[in-house]
Amino acid sequence: MSPVPTPAASADQASDQSIVHVVGGGLAGSEAAWQVAEAGVRVVLHEMRPVRGTAAHQTDGLAELVCSNSFRSDDWAYNAVGLLHAEMRRCGSLIMAAADAHQVPAGGALAVDREGFSQAVTQRLEQHPLIEIRREEVAGLPPAQWGSVILATGPLTSPALSDAVLQLSGEGQLSFFDAIAPIVHADTIDMSVAWRQSRYDKEGPGGDAAAYINCPMDKAQYEAFVDALLTGPKAEFKEWENVPYFDGCLPIEVMAERGRETLRHGPMKPVGLTNPHNPTVKAHAIVQLRQDNALGTLFNMVGFQTKLKHGAQAEVFRTIPGLHNAEFARLGGLHRNTFINSPRLLDAQLRLKADPRLRFAGQVTGVEGYVESAAVGLLAGRFAAAERKGHALTAPPPTAALGALIAHITGGRLEGDTVEAGKFQPMNINYGLLPPMETPKAGPDGQRIPMKERGRAKKRLMSERALRDLDAWLAGPARAAAE
Ligand SMILES: Cc1cc2nc3c(=O)[nH]c(=O)nc-3n(C[C@H](O)[C@H](O)[C@H](O)COP(=O)(O)OP(=O)(O)OC[C@H]3O[C@@H](n4cnc5c(N)ncnc54)[C@H](O)[C@@H]3O)c2cc1C
Repeated sequence: MSPVPTPAASADQASDQSIVHVVGGGLAGSEAAWQVAEAGVRVVLHEMRPVRGTAAHQTDGLAELVCSNSFRSDDWAYNAVGLLHAEMRRCGSLIMAAADAHQVPAGGALAVDREGFSQAVTQRLEQHPLIEIRREEVAGLPPAQWGSVILATGPLTSPALSDAVLQLSGEGQLSFFDAIAPIVHADTIDMSVAWRQSRYDKEGPGGDAAAYINCPMDKAQYEAFVDALLTGPKAEFKEWENVPYFDGCLPIEVMAERGRETLRHGPMKPVGLTNPHNPTVKAHAIVQLRQDNALGTLFNMVGFQTKLKHGAQAEVFRTIPGLHNAEFARLGGLHRNTFINSPRLLDAQLRLKADPRLRFAGQVTGVEGYVESAAVGLLAGRFAAAERKGHALTAPPPTAALGALIAHITGGRLEGDTVEAGKFQPMNINYGLLPPMETPKAGPDGQRIPMKERGRAKKRLMSERALRDLDAWLAGPARAAAE
């Protein structure tokens, strides 16, 4: 089969104004195609497997799960990904329906029989009267006559297409070792030990001279930390992940291997900072955390990209003074990834500003995970279908998990982030992306909530607010766009 672009069939050219083309039949593309078709709009879904494979997919099934078979927690009340499940079910998600139908026992998690799940998604899409599936690679920018396109080609986007997108977006880099530093929930940092200050009190563009959170270490703590980095278990690289490190983005354990003092002269240098809790004592090393989202609820550990295994990371990083009780919104990691600098390149409708007929969905937009990828596919599908019907559908409110995810990738980041700088990084859904709420001290019955249960009670309130606000969006703007 020859790759596209080839001139699309002449029937398509005549009727293309009523079609949405979805490129990539993974988690996001499958969900997007379903949402478009369910809205009554024709879809052509282009999936390159089995004509061309990827380094991770094993089958030609749509929505293949390339690694784990888990959709993570299914607890809508106390877990952000469980909340996202609940919201997607309310939006008629195909991915969630297939996952629910092919569950395997996994405690509080939603895990699936991967073959049954993928077959179910493939069959539902094949049988839909408004969906045509073409097994072909889109090997460059989609032809100009495709008036509405959703690009959902994932972290392993074929090189011909990623090169074309790269040129169109004007970004210098798209595919690389994705070096991820851990992200911490700000309200779990012990500010009786840590303090806010920018190095040399340098003011940022907004006039803020205290943008960073600093955690001090004495010599013994630093030496023990370096030892833990050197001896901690590291994740193995797979053969296909043969992409070089970014300069200036080395994992911390690789820096530590280069010399025991390297970190003290790099991301942990103790200069230009004074500890207000102990002003006369100079710290031997300092770990800095930088605000990660516009809400200020998440902070990333600056320069702490790592390939330590997840369990070891939590253990080693909690030895850092001020982070003893840290809760991580995301742990660090390194793997090959392809994603665009969405906050800069996409509008709130997931359209490429440089060419608005192109929408992006899935992992390539800078979300992380099966569920999050499918969730962005769901929204891209709804936006594209509404547009084809002559409506403008606004995104769900940011208080809902779906809305928070899209706010994060299309606008929630801090100014000045670039993919090259390694700052805009894929993100799982978590409560830190939702606008914060007051921590409740008493329940609805007026009963005092014990201190240690208040964080959990707050999550429940945020989940209830999310579902309430999503329902209002479904009954209002989403219903109007479906007319
Ligand atoms: C190795 C690896 C392991 C992962 N493990 C997990 C995990 O365990 N749990 C988790 O939650 N997330 C995991 N992820 C992250 C992510 O959630 C998944 O990659 C997820 O599948 C992303 O969904 P997607 O729809 O964006 O991309 P995909 O599911 O990869 O779908 C993209 C589709 O586009 C097709 N395609 C690519 N280029 C073209 C083209 N030019 N023309 C036509 N079709 C094309 C591909 O064949 C593929 O079917 C992993 C990622 C990788 C790379």
